[in-house]
Amino acid sequence: MKTYFLGLVLVLSFSQCQSQTISSMSDFKPEISKNETQWKQELGPEKFRILRQKGTEYPGTGEYDKHFETGTYSCAGCGANLFTSDSKFDAHCGWPSFDKEIIDGAITEIRDFSAGMVRTEILCTKCGGHLGHVFNDGPTKTKLRYCVNSLSMTFERKK
Ligand SMILES: [Zn+2]
Repeated sequence: MKTYFLGLVLVLSFSQCQSQTISSMSDFKPEISKNETQWKQELGPEKFRILRQKGTEYPGTGEYDKHFETGTYSCAGCGANLFTSDSKFDAHCGWPSFDKEIIDGAITEIRDFSAGMVRTEILCTKCGGHLGHVFNDGPTKTKLRYCVNSLSMTFERKK
């Protein structure tokens, strides 16, 4: 009984770990703000399309889809740390998948009604770059599946 109770407490404390959620893009004031021309110059056309125009890379094509080295994934727009390799799993969906953000608040969530679906878009809190979407159907204890474009991230191997 005691073990069961402890388990329940753990589950409850886990569910309190949450990303920052906003209801509209106009409420969102990322710390790093640049104009379109600056972003385009810095990111190049492919990353610009994903990060700043909310694009999606073709499934199965991303550099980090089948990438399972130990290290840290950061935002390709501003360098903010987003995920560790410990939280990465193979969701067989064609995009790198993670079950939690590196620290609470690293990622900002917003409802996305585009493409005829209701989804939760994920953004880098620091620069507002589009990362992908998060779903509640993950196979691990967090039940979350952060589905992220490889082009939105950089990777640094643990030394
Ligand atoms: Zn960023």
